[in-house]
Amino acid sequence: MMPQSDAPPAPPADPAGAILRPATTEAIEDAAAALRAGRLVVFPTETVYGLGADARSDIAVASIYAAKGRPDTNPCIVHVPDLAAAAPLAALPTAAAPLAAAFWPGPLTLVVRRRPDSPLSARVSAGGATVALRAPAHPVALALLRAAAVPVAAPSANRSGAVSPTTAAHVLADLADGPGPKPALILDGGPCRVGVESTVLDVSGPHPRLLRPGGVTREAIEATLGIAVAAREDAREDAPLASPGLLSSHYAPALPVRLHATAAHPGEALLGFGGTPGATLDLSPAGDLAEAARNLFAMLRTLDSPAYAGIAVAPIPHYGLGQALNDRLRRAAAPRSGRAAPSS
Ligand code: AMP
Ligand code: MG
Repeated sequence: MMPQSDAPPAPPADPAGAILRPATTEAIEDAAAALRAGRLVVFPTETVYGLGADARSDIAVASIYAAKGRPDTNPCIVHVPDLAAAAPLAALPTAAAPLAAAFWPGPLTLVVRRRPDSPLSARVSAGGATVALRAPAHPVALALLRAAAVPVAAPSANRSGAVSPTTAAHVLADLADGPGPKPALILDGGPCRVGVESTVLDVSGPHPRLLRPGGVTREAIEATLGIAVAAREDAREDAPLASPGLLSSHYAPALPVRLHATAAHPGEALLGFGGTPGATLDLSPAGDLAEAARNLFAMLRTLDSPAYAGIAVAPIPHYGLGQALNDRLRRAAAPRSGRAAPSS
């Protein structure tokens, strides 16, 4: 009897027309070459998946905005492997060294002033004088940055305004039917360990300011700097935006989101925390904020289904990572006027 064919099974169909590949050394090398050639590459970080391009190239950076449908007034984070790679890009203030020593690689983004001779495209700064820099703590992201040897501009790999992707499957679901350019490669590195975006800290002025709570807590930053850090007050709809990209409505599922819920209204799904009775899903039955952060975006996507009329979310404690969770949830629940409907 003839043996079965030795041919490997056909790869699964890829609706994005992009190449979804496990993040092997070879795939990372190919991704680095694609970045150097001005193409888009999706890669995992410890926070969420990023849609990356060579940050020095106007054309490559413009293709990120086209792929996401992102307003070009929203600047994007530039990724570097370490502080030494950041030095030629920006005038690093004194606070950058202790912050990078404590939190890089990791989920802390520093907003600093661009150097006059910075090789970065003006588009990563939305034409402004500052740039947001971060070294991600993910072995695949770091290997890619080292292999590419170029600074990589990378916002989250989802359509603008929608829920951020924490798996490669989320990326496919979001970017498959978009009108813009498709990534050359999607590196699959499994689910993201932190699950919410980086903390954005502005150290370009005399006093550090927290622009966005994220994976590094304000408490940890204050302990490192030895001073209190002011947070941007943006809870009010009419508050002026300290950062053009920090729109009120973001991270938004298609369904309406209702916060501080103790029970579901008829037709609603209930996203619980700490063992909420009757929860459809629970972010962390044990009440662990890190586990809740890892689950937040994936659970919002799961519940964003025509089976429900809305998503009710149980209260989340407002300390540590809870500040980032509540920030994302507040934006997910914000009025949707003034932006395109989310696509996911
Ligand atoms: P994302 O890359 O989608 O996670 O978003 C990055 C966030 O960092 C955006 O909301 C931006 O508004 C913010 N950001 C990026 N660059 C700057 C900058 N130069 N100044 C202030 N905020 C920035
Ligand atoms: Mg984003």
